[in-house]
Amino acid sequence: MRHVGLLYDPRFKLHDTGRNHPERPARLDVVISGLEREGLVSACRAIDAEPIDPALLLKVHARSYLDRIERTCAEGGAFIDTPDSAVCPDSAEIASLAAGGIVQAARSIINGDLARAFCAVRPPGHHAERDRSMGFCLYGNVALAARVFLDEAQHERVLILDWDVHHGNGTQHVFEDDPRVLFISLHGHPDYLYPGTGYHHEIGVGRGEGHTLNIPFLPGAIDDEYRDAFELKIEPAVMRYQPQSIIISAGFDAHRDDPIGCARLSDDIFSWMTRRVIGWSEKFCAGRVLSVLEGGYDLDALRRNVVEHVRLLEET
Ligand SMILES: [Zn+2]
Repeated sequence: MRHVGLLYDPRFKLHDTGRNHPERPARLDVVISGLEREGLVSACRAIDAEPIDPALLLKVHARSYLDRIERTCAEGGAFIDTPDSAVCPDSAEIASLAAGGIVQAARSIINGDLARAFCAVRPPGHHAERDRSMGFCLYGNVALAARVFLDEAQHERVLILDWDVHHGNGTQHVFEDDPRVLFISLHGHPDYLYPGTGYHHEIGVGRGEGHTLNIPFLPGAIDDEYRDAFELKIEPAVMRYQPQSIIISAGFDAHRDDPIGCARLSDDIFSWMTRRVIGWSEKFCAGRVLSVLEGGYDLDALRRNVVEHVRLLEET
């Protein structure tokens, strides 16, 4: 039985960010051709992209923001809120297809059709705030998936692990007062890297206090620093929390070859982290892992590391 799902749709490449934008359609070309070459596309079960239910989007985003995205795209605007978040007329529809596909992946995991899934989507999502776009992101893909686990599966302990080199500010802010989500982010230190949040002292608010764990790294971080963070901080927190579902914000821009990251990680750490997460999932949640692509802008490093990530999700 093919128990791992793969979300991909060629329409994700229609989100045109313009010339010289690092978040470009070629990222998915290299990911999918790499997966095909290794037989991993046929080894996984295809998940179809479909438009997301607007009512679900409203659980994460303000109506005024959703209207602004629709209007800007319809009018041929060049970006949403910030020039970083470049759009084309198709972008609202593509972002909806990507988020909707992720929601379907989450539902397939909930109903047992899939154990795990990898979502090769554009645009990414973890910087998207409730009411504004940031950092190439339109809809909060991972936050929407977490809402599905919370609201449709009634999970009370959802783990989101965000290893993109940039802090997942949008995801954090959606759930920072909710103890039903443990948000853990490893990222470049906010004094040095976009988006300038994700300090140690951001630990959640109100009832969510203690359910946000930010681990910033100074520029030049290497694999051993990430391993230490897992051993000393992350794994103890996960063991205490005992998640019922696990979502990965899988960015690959902490790689040493990445043109916009600030870390110096090798390929090894991404497979090491993937194995760790799979181990937690088998211990606590019947193997359930939903992994969603975020950043990663060196095409070779992105291809290699996504292929290995999916291979581990599929074979383990
Ligand atoms: Zn990033």
